[in-house]
Amino acid sequence: MRPRLYVDLSKIRANAQRVLEFLSKHGIELVAVTKVTLGDPNIARVLREAGVRIIGESRIQNVERLISSGVTGPFMMLRIPQLSEIDSIVGLCDYILVSELDVVRKIEELCREKKHRTKLIYMVDVGDLREGVWYENAVEEVVQAAKMCDWAELCGVGTNLGCYGGVLASEENMRMLLNIRDNVERLTKKSFPIVSGGNTSALKLVEEERLPQGVNQFRVGEAIYLGTDVTNNREISWLERDAFILEAEVIELKTKPSVPVGETGFDAFGRKPNFFDKGWRRRAILALGEQDTVPGQLKPLDEKVEVIHASSDHTIVDISDVDRSIRVGDTMKFRLTYAALLRAMTCPHVEKIYV
Ligand SMILES: *Cc1c(COP(=O)(O)O)cnc(C)c1O
Repeated sequence: MRPRLYVDLSKIRANAQRVLEFLSKHGIELVAVTKVTLGDPNIARVLREAGVRIIGESRIQNVERLISSGVTGPFMMLRIPQLSEIDSIVGLCDYILVSELDVVRKIEELCREKKHRTKLIYMVDVGDLREGVWYENAVEEVVQAAKMCDWAELCGVGTNLGCYGGVLASEENMRMLLNIRDNVERLTKKSFPIVSGGNTSALKLVEEERLPQGVNQFRVGEAIYLGTDVTNNREISWLERDAFILEAEVIELKTKPSVPVGETGFDAFGRKPNFFDKGWRRRAILALGEQDTVPGQLKPLDEKVEVIHASSDHTIVDISDVDRSIRVGDTMKFRLTYAALLRAMTCPHVEKIYV
């Protein structure tokens, strides 16, 4: 069998509903993000059933996949666009996050040509060092962008946190974003109603009632699918955490030493594994590898199983402490982290089973 990824649509629906309800109580609109699912239409449909209005995607190919499976917009393009793809993005997405004046100019041209309206959110970097104009230069650049727009509609500012620098959402950085919006409004005498302040990592701020008034849109993926918040290193107690389960088959069972024999170099991926001498151990090899998921980030459902290491197609697990008997041909199940889920969803060798 191929590795199997069980997708529990009812748990995803429940999570989407809970996040939606929680945010709307605080006056925040939810953009539900499907990029970690490769734009999976079954999942997108469930998000719609939960009442999600805008679907966020990072790849135009995923938006195309959704549309061709009958999922309708509005769609938001999350990754700041490539000039080479702008044509199709403007055609298919109702909202686009942007951070370059050249891109805004091009979108405006296309909108004018097609007599088409597209909404833009200008990204501001409040410290995480991924996309966006640096906050100290933001007012000037966003004002310039606003002046370029006529058919395109600049409707707000946004920021992304917790992705490169691991910077956490705070009252301070959310206030910075709000101040930038207010200053741009003052200088242009126009209104910019959307303040798109966060992703999963910002939910905590809302839970603690510390989100400044005025931040009114969150773009959320991880929390809905996994019920975790990797940036804050926490599980979100009010969400389901096993909507996705990965299953793989045992192809070898042997007892071997825990330290290799012979002079050692690097592994197949250029890494230098650490070995701890625990004596001889009972180990299983699974038909699963780096190609299918991020094995080192899998969380075995049986806590006595320990993932030791993996190469492209083999994952080695220590089962010395497992009570039940395991045989070749049996399977093992795992929860996933965001990175492990991303790779599993995007790998064609992993079978997706919707339950
Ligand atoms: C991926 C992404 C999100 C969603 O992030 P999660 O941590 O999965 O909630 C939000 N905004 C942007 C710009 C993204 O790229």
